[in-house]
Amino acid sequence: MKLLVISFGCQMSVADGDEMARPLRARGFTAAKGLDDADALILNTCTVRQQAEDRAVSQIGRLRRWKDERPERLLIVAGCAAERIGDWLRTRFPYIDLVVGAKSIEQYPIILEAALKERFSWARDNAGAWDGRDPAPGTAGFVTIMRGCNYACSYCIVPAVRGPEAYRPLEAVLEQTRALATSGGKEVTFLGQTVNSWRDAQGRDFADLLRAADAVAGIERIRFMSPHPFFLGPRLLAALAETAKTAPHMHLPAQSGSDRVLKAMRRNYTAASLLEKVRALRAAVPGIQVSTDLIAGFPGETEEDFSATLRLAREGDFCAAYCFRFSAREGTEAASLPGQLPDGLKEERLARLLELVDAQTRRHLDAMRGRRVRVILEDSTDGRTEGCFRARLDAPGTPGTAVDAEVTGRTDTALKARALASAPSGVVSLTA
Ligand code: SF4
Repeated sequence: MKLLVISFGCQMSVADGDEMARPLRARGFTAAKGLDDADALILNTCTVRQQAEDRAVSQIGRLRRWKDERPERLLIVAGCAAERIGDWLRTRFPYIDLVVGAKSIEQYPIILEAALKERFSWARDNAGAWDGRDPAPGTAGFVTIMRGCNYACSYCIVPAVRGPEAYRPLEAVLEQTRALATSGGKEVTFLGQTVNSWRDAQGRDFADLLRAADAVAGIERIRFMSPHPFFLGPRLLAALAETAKTAPHMHLPAQSGSDRVLKAMRRNYTAASLLEKVRALRAAVPGIQVSTDLIAGFPGETEEDFSATLRLAREGDFCAAYCFRFSAREGTEAASLPGQLPDGLKEERLARLLELVDAQTRRHLDAMRGRRVRVILEDSTDGRTEGCFRARLDAPGTPGTAVDAEVTGRTDTALKARALASAPSGVVSLTA
């Protein structure tokens, strides 16, 4: 039996798709090469941006023929869009076998078990073969440590579709991290909507989690996304500074540089307090690279507000910024705020913002020339450095291995690097 997983949207969606595939893999499903040879398909949807939801819906429409060819095939639609528009999906596409909303992911193994028993006779014969424990993950390296969000940013659909925060126990996080290391993974990325708000009933927080993960043998590098500025306090700064394996890179979403807009977005910080956090981060971890998210054209954004965002981008000196044109998501507060801006104006502001942040990125890339980096290869030549940037090596290596290299140049968004002959062990940190 062959399984294909298609994930749309953010990295959490990709990680969820991987997690949902595990019970099927434990049942003996192997990876399908493509749709044609797949017996089961998990389509993991995202609803944070309209475009990702539209792409998922259009993909489901195209699957009618796939199901008609072999009606016994299993089609599972999961994720945030399944939560938000699940009823509509069931009615519109009656050939979907299972719709699993993002809030139901913890119950998914039970739901799946019932569906498998109905659908595949071998499942009846092998009832009990899967005991519910996760098998070892692959080397992808993503470990979801929490789900949901306790915030209410006015533009965001996540709290509605994923519910309040739920934290994975520390031992389960460490167990999956160790399993990743055992299967050859060198880099782990902890995922959560506000990943650094993780905590547990024993009073441990995200700083404790990082310190515990730092001790996992075989793991060479730890990343996390996306942190919320509110939870970037002294304990976390100390943990970042004192753990050897935490990557010297943080993606810290700012969203806007205007305090008026930040208030309307219901972000709980000001531009000044965010920049103060960035300064504290750089003081605690010298050489750390900081990237961000910015939104152009939020409802009611004036030219003055937008100028404040440009100013924040400059003063933050971000190595990269993911910039978005505000797009109203149905069901969010921001969708019905007065002062929605015309598309042309949003596009124009986005273009100005991109011009600024892309130039900053090129400057940061140029500053890396001649430095030594350690690249964990994702394929034979391309991988991630310990910082913000990806790198392409001049000579092929083995995917999954770490290679020391010297930066020789850049593209617009990545580094070019020369692999060094002898790679000393350990983690090489970027220096300013
Ligand atoms: S912190 Fe805000 S933007 Fe992030 S998931 Fe929660 S509500 Fe959405």
